[in-house]
Amino acid sequence: MDYCLNSHKGFRTLHFPALKVPGTGHGFTSRQGPGDSRDAFAFLNMGLRTGEDPRLVKKNHRLFLEGVGLGGSPLVTGEQVHGSLVAQVAPSRDFRVVPGADGLVTDGEGVVLSLFSADCALVFLVDRRGRAVGIAHAGWRGAVAGIAGEAVRKLKEGFGSQPRDLLAGISPCIGACCFEVRDDVVGALREAGLPEKELLTPAPGGDSWYLDLKALNIWQLRRAGVPAGSIFSTSLCTSCRRDLFYSYRRDKGITGRMMGYIYVERKGR
Ligand SMILES: [Zn+2]
Repeated sequence: MDYCLNSHKGFRTLHFPALKVPGTGHGFTSRQGPGDSRDAFAFLNMGLRTGEDPRLVKKNHRLFLEGVGLGGSPLVTGEQVHGSLVAQVAPSRDFRVVPGADGLVTDGEGVVLSLFSADCALVFLVDRRGRAVGIAHAGWRGAVAGIAGEAVRKLKEGFGSQPRDLLAGISPCIGACCFEVRDDVVGALREAGLPEKELLTPAPGGDSWYLDLKALNIWQLRRAGVPAGSIFSTSLCTSCRRDLFYSYRRDKGITGRMMGYIYVERKGR
């Protein structure tokens, strides 16, 4: 199995064992945990722009980070505009949002890169030889624009990471079972020169398709030089698994967010 779902102090969190390079850490939260979120947001909403009181969400962040031994480490996140900008992040003392960024890379100790999703995929990247890490937010727009490949390029440019040395994990996202798309998405795939036949399945009725977002991200990672055997993913669909995940489509926009996070450990930690 590419992934494991652990329970730690009540927080049910997903990891990719192959990405556990010494000196680094990562994970993807589920909605299950001792958070304070209620109703549509129950129980561990990590998204600050969801309609739930941000003070409550910040408390969830704090509870979670303390629970996994990262208490006191500041989160650095991106604005997440469904684009393809990847920012190189320096250590920070406080919570920070990088404007315009959907991807983040760093080799800095003690900074926790974090992004949020509810159906979109988050792509985790770790250099197996070094201490550089990255994360990218890849819904269909970002994935078509090549954000995963852009994060690979940014790791090379910033830290000398070779694509062949990268390990990649793709978070649970909306599956091809549930992600119905129309002409606009098909047109965008075609315009970007992406293999639409491999990525789309016609829906009954004939005027829509199902998009395999995970396969699209795998395709972009491979195109950027990451070996197929170094890419790990899950078969979990955020829309099907109401027990584990928030889903923007399923919940018609009124829902929470999971958090993906990745970091370089502080030495001596
Ligand atoms: Zn599904």
